[in-house]
Amino acid sequence: MDRLYLVVPCYNEEEVLPETVRRLTDKLKRMTEKGLVSKDSRILLVDDGSRDRTWELICGFHQDSPTVSGLKLSRNRGHQNALVAGLMTARELCDITISLDADLQDDIEVLDQFVEEYHKGAQIVYGVRSARDTDTAFKRSTAMGFYGLMKKMGVDIVGNHADYRLMSRRALDCFSDYREVNLFLRGIVPLIGFKTAVVTYERSERFAGESKYPLKKMLSFAWDGITSFSTKPLSLITGVGIAVGFLSGLGLLAGLICLLCGVLVPGWIWVLISVWLGLGIQLVALGLVGAYVGKTYAEVKARPRYHIEMLLDEGKSPNGPKA
Ligand code: UDP
Ligand code: MG
Repeated sequence: MDRLYLVVPCYNEEEVLPETVRRLTDKLKRMTEKGLVSKDSRILLVDDGSRDRTWELICGFHQDSPTVSGLKLSRNRGHQNALVAGLMTARELCDITISLDADLQDDIEVLDQFVEEYHKGAQIVYGVRSARDTDTAFKRSTAMGFYGLMKKMGVDIVGNHADYRLMSRRALDCFSDYREVNLFLRGIVPLIGFKTAVVTYERSERFAGESKYPLKKMLSFAWDGITSFSTKPLSLITGVGIAVGFLSGLGLLAGLICLLCGVLVPGWIWVLISVWLGLGIQLVALGLVGAYVGKTYAEVKARPRYHIEMLLDEGKSPNGPKA
């Protein structure tokens, strides 16, 4: 029977963890009883350098029950890196992984369906939200704008799918060949291929604690997603250049007509506007190119994405595998 690891990144989640572990343990037990997954399936809690008592709690859970494993990163590396750290560690210990958030906003009752799809041959199963009623109108509209923009930029992502997904060991082996430092999992996973499936569910609200994704993080995540997968913004610069050239041509024409008709336009206004317009556009273009150069810089250096401080999983040494 297949061994399942539920991979849960946790950053300052002391408020939700006890309830999360209780619910997940219970769910895993029911799945085992149904014969879906093997008895030695685990919940792998990844502590992403939390500053609260998250790691102490994880150690406690691990002591109380071998069903809970813990992985501690050396410092905060962000959700995506923490998830990869968990997945890459789990890959060597199990047959299937399912990643989910610590706040259990994603309905865990559909976990059975994930595994059933895997048994039907899917190597990757995407959890897709059917409704976004519980999100604020703001989060909903920014998310919709984000998916729309990504599609326009030519990035192939599954709509309304966050990082709630099943990946088989085989898919993870392939995923480990993607060494990029600017991580955007939702963009990378569809590149892997194999048979995939979709499971729909309803997303609920956080039952405790606050979102660790404020607007600033959300925006930088969206920006990362676009610039890591698409070079369309670069070609956009050319488009803007052409448009501006055309507009200034029109302005020139208007000026000439005024001149012919004897209407006096103070010359300095035109000069000032065009200078600032040109400067603004050039700076935007430069910044855009700079963003890609910066990314290339990070990729060329290829620094490790995370370091593991400790792995709590029975039968494993305290110093886990490196990234
Ligand atoms: N998270 C993390 N590292 C971070 C920020 C968040 O591991 O630097 C985890 C967090 O503990 C949670 C998941 O990522 O399990 C999603 O975060 P959150 O629920 O705050 O985001 P939202 O659902 O509001 O988008
Ligand atoms: Mg959440």
